[in-house]
Amino acid sequence: MNQSVLYNRRMDAVPTTRHLPYRGRLAPSPTGLLHIGHACTFWTAYQRALEGGGTLVFRNEDLDPQRSKPAFARAMMEDLRWLGIRWQEGPDVGGPFAPYEQSLRHEHYLDAWRRLRDGGFLYPCACSRKDLATSAAAPHEGDDEPVYPGRCRTRIDEAKTYRSPHGVNWRFLVPDGETIAFDDLRQGRQQFAAGRDFGDFVVWRRDDVPAYQLAVVADDAAMEITEIVRGADLLKSTARQLLLIRALALPVPAYYHCDLVRDEGGTRLAKRHDALSLRTLREQGHSPRHVLEKCHWR
Ligand SMILES: [Zn+2]
Repeated sequence: MNQSVLYNRRMDAVPTTRHLPYRGRLAPSPTGLLHIGHACTFWTAYQRALEGGGTLVFRNEDLDPQRSKPAFARAMMEDLRWLGIRWQEGPDVGGPFAPYEQSLRHEHYLDAWRRLRDGGFLYPCACSRKDLATSAAAPHEGDDEPVYPGRCRTRIDEAKTYRSPHGVNWRFLVPDGETIAFDDLRQGRQQFAAGRDFGDFVVWRRDDVPAYQLAVVADDAAMEITEIVRGADLLKSTARQLLLIRALALPVPAYYHCDLVRDEGGTRLAKRHDALSLRTLREQGHSPRHVLEKCHWR
């Protein structure tokens, strides 16, 4: 496969959502309780939607059937409402782009998988976890996914013989050596080198669950999201998603990656830090205002 044929469109020549009315989203995963870091990011998303005079969409990212729990989905909505955040579309209020639960949007993701397969962007990968663990590529700091060494790239021509993604992992072929650059509204100019900062990433898992990267790109486009507000831990994921957006010929949204919230000692607040879950803080009698004041810790 000749990569220059696949990637002959310049990144800055693609259509954007800039001319469209503001649409933002809150997209938490119901795999645990929300903590202060989430509160700060979602509060920022809410404020930007208000300032933009636009619409805020609540999307339940319950893709992973093993880790997602309905009780956490209910808790997310309660906690965000308690903070004072309001949304105009979502699983609880409906809207023109329903369903707003990823577990109910499988067909959308299959459609994206088919288009990527037909475009020659995907290949099936049968490497086991053990194969990858013994390969030379080490995980890069700040990103838990090791750079895939490309062993199954030779299978790219096989992709068209698959009618469904089921039963094997699918990887997206990244253009090695290309710099993926974008201007983040909060963090400024960002750039990542495909093939070095990240490798061919999984877009569909062998257990028939679409990967996060594919699902958010498909959903943000389908729900006409114009600005994505999320944590700075996802900057590198944005580079991967920009490649998917280009491959699917979708408009590029604006990005606003919030600073990561750290405690007074400088440690990043991890999701499983139960002492700082919104639920716990609320039970301890903290007010929403007091919780949001912690967003300014540096
Ligand atoms: Zn492989």
